[in-house]
Amino acid sequence: MPELPEVEYVARQLRATLPGRRITGAEVRWARSIQGMEPAEFVAGVTGRTVTAIGRRAKYLLLTLDDGRLLIAHRRMSGNLLLCGQGQEAPPYTRVALDLDDGRRLYYTDPRKFGRLTLAWLDALPPALAELGPEPLEAAFTPTALAERLAGSRRAIKAALLDQRVIAGLGNIYADEALFRAGIHPLRSAGSLTGAEIRRLRDGIQGALTTGIAHGGTTFGRHRDLYDEAGSNLEHVEVYRRTGQPCVRCGTPIERVTVTQRGTHYCPRCQPA
Ligand SMILES: [Zn+2]
Repeated sequence: MPELPEVEYVARQLRATLPGRRITGAEVRWARSIQGMEPAEFVAGVTGRTVTAIGRRAKYLLLTLDDGRLLIAHRRMSGNLLLCGQGQEAPPYTRVALDLDDGRRLYYTDPRKFGRLTLAWLDALPPALAELGPEPLEAAFTPTALAERLAGSRRAIKAALLDQRVIAGLGNIYADEALFRAGIHPLRSAGSLTGAEIRRLRDGIQGALTTGIAHGGTTFGRHRDLYDEAGSNLEHVEVYRRTGQPCVRCGTPIERVTVTQRGTHYCPRCQPA
């Protein structure tokens, strides 16, 4: 499932090529990929519009159109955006296709069909977007800001990190990586972290995310970038899906527990209970 780094990487690729391009047509092949409106309304809403900017919020990709509306893409389990040249065949599992004025096509592919595209005005964002917590790579995400989000919480810290209202954009991979970097056991109660631990956790979150972006994201399933390339961050993760393998710091075998139904990977020595 794409998390912040996988979405951010594709946002950067789109930013390098898409602004200024006009959408000359659109095709919806799977109606339920479009959320909150009929496919025909979506097609009419994007056709003739020029993309003016590319943004990201949490795991949502945001394309600003020249009428001020946002085209919002939430890739969920298996969605990808693929940019193909003129004359190239539509990729497998294409759900939505946008024609660009230079002959290229931007495809939304999604084998499992959980992802959604929609159009929204800035002052009427879908509730899931309006309720998101702070962006962890922004300067405002200080240890103090993180401490405020976690204060009084008795939940396991791993569960708190997965809650998009607490922090935006973290999922299972980067939450595990961040906790390892910080030396914090995933079942520690979120409100019990000391000031020093909070500081390490903030640094761990930012470090895990920026490492992921630098490697084009983590691909063990469906994540592909804009040009259908896999990310290489799986070669750089320190605990995620490394159960039984030696810890990169101390050699102790990595263990796995389940936290809120998610497989959670940690080093029992570097992250003591
Ligand atoms: Zn260790």
